[in-house]
Amino acid sequence: MTSRHVRVNPIACEAHGMCAELLPEMIELDEWGYPIVDGKALAPALAAHAERAAAACPTFALLVDRRQTPPPARERTDTGAQGVRRRVPRRPHEPRA
Ligand code: SF4
Repeated sequence: MTSRHVRVNPIACEAHGMCAELLPEMIELDEWGYPIVDGKALAPALAAHAERAAAACPTFALLVDRRQTPPPARERTDTGAQGVRRRVPRRPHEPRA
């Protein structure tokens, strides 16, 4: 499953602040005018706004990318001598389930 995220290249960003005006739902500015992006997945309703904000960034520092979301890890459990279920740590040489 993929999700879209907004991120900032901090090397390229010059603190113009335009991104926070175009996408205030996800971006706020710190005291020096640099963007702080919440790390949440981009809601479909905000996708067009995020694309527009990225296109408007004068230094191309604002990016909208896709991330592969890993499936939830399955937890191994074992039933102990008294019937109590307990977690079993994966051994280093054991392949992932
Ligand atoms: S518009 Fe671009 S350069 Fe300006 S603060 Fe946002 S990410 Fe940085």
